[in-house]
Amino acid sequence: MLIDTHAHLDFPEFDTDRQPLLAQMRQAGIGGAIIPAADPACWPRVREVARQTGCHYALGVHPWWVTPEHCAHHLQQLAEMLSEQKDDPRLVAIGETGLDSLKGPTLDVQLASLRGHIELAIQYDLPLILHCVKAQRPLLELLAQYPGCRGVIHGFGGSLETARQFAGLGFLIGIGAAVLNTNMKKLRHCVANMEIASLLPETDSPAMAPKGISRNTPLIMLQVVEEIARLRQVDVVQLKEQLFRNVTQLFDV
Ligand SMILES: [Zn+2]
Repeated sequence: MLIDTHAHLDFPEFDTDRQPLLAQMRQAGIGGAIIPAADPACWPRVREVARQTGCHYALGVHPWWVTPEHCAHHLQQLAEMLSEQKDDPRLVAIGETGLDSLKGPTLDVQLASLRGHIELAIQYDLPLILHCVKAQRPLLELLAQYPGCRGVIHGFGGSLETARQFAGLGFLIGIGAAVLNTNMKKLRHCVANMEIASLLPETDSPAMAPKGISRNTPLIMLQVVEEIARLRQVDVVQLKEQLFRNVTQLFDV
């Protein structure tokens, strides 16, 4: 069975066909998804959609939605929400959080938010779902200051060497539809050679749609996993089993 470790199924893009899509996923062997949160306003909805669909969810503030005025208040709200929901078996991670040097507030504001998320993740013993765009160096430096934290670098697009550095700090590598793009040579080399126990499948639906498709869905997981199997020259059924073990080990789903 496959689980999409990063799908924004709460987004309005899925309002018209969420349940049929879930049925299609199950038919295709995709048993569920982890729904990461974007900002505090969406937390109740993320929880509700996870409950309605039998999926799991995460709580956090995406770096694009961090603001200098609200950063501290949002972290306070996150701490309160976690203490309320800590026994909810559907709550499996903190995120998404992370660093993005192309979008959102300045990196020092994003770093303050991320530090708060990491400290809560350690306190509640939950994995982190991290977004990282053009900020691998500062992210590696920050994570190195928190031994014992764990999680996933979602939508990874870097090199094998960088992936191994993140793995050395307790992080798995989220592989999405970017691997289908034959121009992504570094990433494809990484997927072919990275230790298999460090890979997690994901889609980032509805974003990151492969060329020619307007809305991404978790169904694209089948192509992603087939491509990983092709690149590694392994049997796709065995690969699915290993990826499922990786998912359950990190998120305890
Ligand atoms: Zn996302």
